Amino acid sequence: MPINKRILIVEDEFKIARFLQLELEHEGYQTLIEATGRRALDRIVQEDFALVLLDVMLPELDGMEICKRVRELSEIPIIMVTAKDAIEDKVLGLDIGADDYLTKPFAIQELFARIRTALRKSKEAHTELANDALTLGDLTLYPMRYEAEVSSQPVSLTKKEYDLLEYLIRNKHIVLTRERILQEVWGYDYTGDTNVVDVYIRYLRTKLDEQFGQKYIHTVRGVGYVVKE
Ligand code: CA
Repeated sequence: MPINKRILIVEDEFKIARFLQLELEHEGYQTLIEATGRRALDRIVQEDFALVLLDVMLPELDGMEICKRVRELSEIPIIMVTAKDAIEDKVLGLDIGADDYLTKPFAIQELFARIRTALRKSKEAHTELANDALTLGDLTLYPMRYEAEVSSQPVSLTKKEYDLLEYLIRNKHIVLTRERILQEVWGYDYTGDTNVVDVYIRYLRTKLDEQFGQKYIHTVRGVGYVVKE
């Protein structure tokens, strides 16, 4: 897979945006410029950028607000850029999830160095996440985030549904009895009956098997359940 080197420059002052664009492209990055907050937010969410250079003072939505909203959905590296050098801005920027913060004017070499650092950290985080992932065919689980995906499409699961699915996948191809599932997922002190397992298996089948038209969870009559690729 080619390395993603697309950077979104969010900057309303055309001269600065253009200067950054020329410098970054000379450095081997692909760039796009967005001058307004709302459009920038849409593009960050919908497109696949490696990093965002985000000016704080923008029309419509300011950089702080964009950063906050992006963080609800994505871990894309964000370097905030601003003319203000107020320390509160810097702290706020980092608090709401920016990876780094630069005050104008800055030396272009300084920006390059910050970008390299942010991209390296992001790559390391991705590698860690991928190494930790569990898979069953096209279904992937990310235990560090309690998230599941089928062919990169997120599946919304409750905590208990997630726990059950993770347990099944960690034991794929092994037939598990209801009692064993109950002990491992609900705990030894759970006092309800084993029907709860069937209820949650049904929830998972609705969200996975039915939703994606595949059979992940198989019933073994008189015994329990097994997940298979
Ligand atoms: Ca500005």
